[in-house]
Amino acid sequence: MKVIKFGGSSLASAEQLKKVLDIVKSDPERRFVVVSAPGKRNPEDTKVTDALIKYYRSYTADNDVTDNQNLIINRYKAIIEELGLSASILDRIAASITDLATLPIEGNDFLYDTFLAAGEDNNAKLIAAYFHKNGLPARYIHPGQAGIIVSSEPGNARILPSSYDKLEELRDSDEVLVIPGFFGVTVDGQICTFSRGGSDISGSIVAAGVKADLYENFTDVDGIFAAHPGVVHKPHSIKELTYREMRELAYAGFSVLHDEALIPAYRGQIPLVIKNTNNPSHPGTSIVLEHRKQAIPVVGIAGDDNFVSINISKYLMNREVGFGRKVLQVLEELNIRWEHIPTGIDDMSIILRDRELTPIKEQEILTQLTRNLGVDEIEIERDLSIIMVVGENMKNQIGVTTTATKALSDRNINLEMISQGSSEVSIMFVIKTNQEKAAVRALYKAFFDTDKAQ
Ligand code: ASP
Repeated sequence: MKVIKFGGSSLASAEQLKKVLDIVKSDPERRFVVVSAPGKRNPEDTKVTDALIKYYRSYTADNDVTDNQNLIINRYKAIIEELGLSASILDRIAASITDLATLPIEGNDFLYDTFLAAGEDNNAKLIAAYFHKNGLPARYIHPGQAGIIVSSEPGNARILPSSYDKLEELRDSDEVLVIPGFFGVTVDGQICTFSRGGSDISGSIVAAGVKADLYENFTDVDGIFAAHPGVVHKPHSIKELTYREMRELAYAGFSVLHDEALIPAYRGQIPLVIKNTNNPSHPGTSIVLEHRKQAIPVVGIAGDDNFVSINISKYLMNREVGFGRKVLQVLEELNIRWEHIPTGIDDMSIILRDRELTPIKEQEILTQLTRNLGVDEIEIERDLSIIMVVGENMKNQIGVTTTATKALSDRNINLEMISQGSSEVSIMFVIKTNQEKAAVRALYKAFFDTDKAQ
């Protein structure tokens, strides 16, 4: 049995919904359908979730909300009319959208989440009605009723472990259940959303809860590409990735799937596939626990910018017990997250995302490290990018780093730092951001031996 999730672009219009119906109908194992809110129909369009944010802002600022409400209702209306659905479903959706502007504002911590969740909730009602009309025994089910119970953290909900047992009871349902993604219900019955893009998380939770054989995540691309298509011309899509490889690529900017969506499916040992609603016969990218056959050493190349490095030197650093702890304590007290710590004998570098280092915190670090820790030199280096060469199978191969460094040196790219964790799932290079694109292209060409990367 399969759980299938459709993203906003797959549900943006009646035309898209027809494809969705065909996909669900074509496989009787597709029994749980998790849906996003209608997304963009074209690059200039507005996502329903973004329209709901504007509606929330007008309402809480005490402005007239009629235009906000109409914009959202008209998105659903256009779909309902084109699909020939009954007027009663439109009335139900319109009432749900206008009723939002009657909710209490003062002391209502979940008001924003309740507005946002309406995008998914109404879409699920619409889609269930459409499926039903077209011969699928489908039923809408609210996340609260399904058992998606979450922590009381508005905009950043976490699933409570007890949810999984409740969800498992849904396995016996004879109907195709259509579940709105992106939100759950707190123990006190409040609507609480995951972070943005969180319908992927809902799909993963449902897949783990009902113990699905497969979690299918339908989007608008043929799976995950081996490099960013904005950098490499027409990169190939990856056939198979392990969860660890996916995590490494996602870390460095591959954003097809929400970061947190991997965890429930991974823990539940559910394989996942990313597929294209507009090209459903393409096999897409499978994300598996372990590669099924001998895998290639490198599966993908990712690059991400906006990193900064705090470079610290102190003579005889290696002999000073507790030095590293003291440095990290300075960061901890300033509530700064760090990403990597490459070290030398007398120096260490701490690599951070540069949003972590506000000017005030930067000054505080410089003062504390020179005054209290007696460092000889400290320098803040900016405009850095990380490049990740990812593949679980590189640990069984000799020469992967040689291939990578040769490709980079042939392009005159200076390596600021190199790091590889003990798991050897990836090699990371730190370089200057103005060389990031050239580096990704060079590595793509070196590992995938194609002339596309020129
Ligand atoms: N509609 C929500 C958003 O735009 C959640 C999602 O689509 O996954 O963030």
